[in-house]
Amino acid sequence: MAMKDPYEVLGVPRTAGDAEVKKAYRRLARKFHPDVNPGDASASKRFQEIAAAYEILKDPKKKERYDRFGDTGEPPDAASGAPRPGAWGAGPFGDASRTSPFGRGGGAGGGFRWSGDFSDLFSDLFSGTGGGIGVGEDEDAAANLTIPFRDAVLGGTVSFSARIPRRCARCRGTGRAAKAVCPACHGSGALVETESLSVRVPAGVDTGSRIRVAGKGRTENGDLYLSIAVEPHPYFGREGDDIVAEVPVTVPEAYLGAEIEVPTVRGPVRARIPAGTLSGQRFRLKGRGIENLRTGTTGDHYYRVRVIAPTVQSEEGRRLVEALGKLYPRDLRAELPRGL
Ligand SMILES: [Zn+2]
Repeated sequence: MAMKDPYEVLGVPRTAGDAEVKKAYRRLARKFHPDVNPGDASASKRFQEIAAAYEILKDPKKKERYDRFGDTGEPPDAASGAPRPGAWGAGPFGDASRTSPFGRGGGAGGGFRWSGDFSDLFSDLFSGTGGGIGVGEDEDAAANLTIPFRDAVLGGTVSFSARIPRRCARCRGTGRAAKAVCPACHGSGALVETESLSVRVPAGVDTGSRIRVAGKGRTENGDLYLSIAVEPHPYFGREGDDIVAEVPVTVPEAYLGAEIEVPTVRGPVRARIPAGTLSGQRFRLKGRGIENLRTGTTGDHYYRVRVIAPTVQSEEGRRLVEALGKLYPRDLRAELPRGL
């Protein structure tokens, strides 16, 4: 198919700079995204044109080639590894694998749902300009939200109140009303509103994830982007999709081997430690970690055993431990260096 003029598609002049191109793309992509226009074939087609146009104009080499030769790079453009026009869903995650913007509220429900496609679209938008949220998009708002570890790992609904600068309705954000300073916003064009919101957090979000709350931006057309931080847990640690923790065991358990109860994020799991286990040894419970939002795979639970010496002092204890001392065949520190 012949491709349309990308400048025309994005509605920007040929002199448009990166920021202007990106802003136009962002505005149009949101407007025509299939998720917000379910079943609308013309919107879908338009969206593909927009994505294809942006593919060219965001890439200095492709842009130059287009400007000079009118070449849209079709067909194959495999060499650059860039997603083909219309195939943006397969694009590389690149920088954005750390961030997981969740899908737009689809359909009539207006809630939000996870959408891998959207993550690509937004990751692309977010990765460019220093990770700013809603850069150049004055209808959106941004806020930070700290959520409990439990909700991040298992999913949940988090309620919070956000202070959102809303475009002043009286002056429509101009700051002027009836040729004077707008009395409602005193000329700033915005009024800060505190709103109580609750957001469904999908299981697996992490610090750095972003969640979009549709329709809660500066205007009713804009969205609120939440930058998520996860509270640390006093016991469970997190490394990507894996959980790491430590389990204390007694000397007899370590020496003889034992079946112990290991706490995991979804409740205790019985596990065997083998005879002769040493302090610091690490064991894995496969699939007991965190479900990855993107891949749907589940991480593992790693627990490190810490062998604890008995602390009760008694005559009998002394005898037992002296006997225990005979089980060490040689000086444990014999092979350590004596210094530098
Ligand atoms: Zn005003």
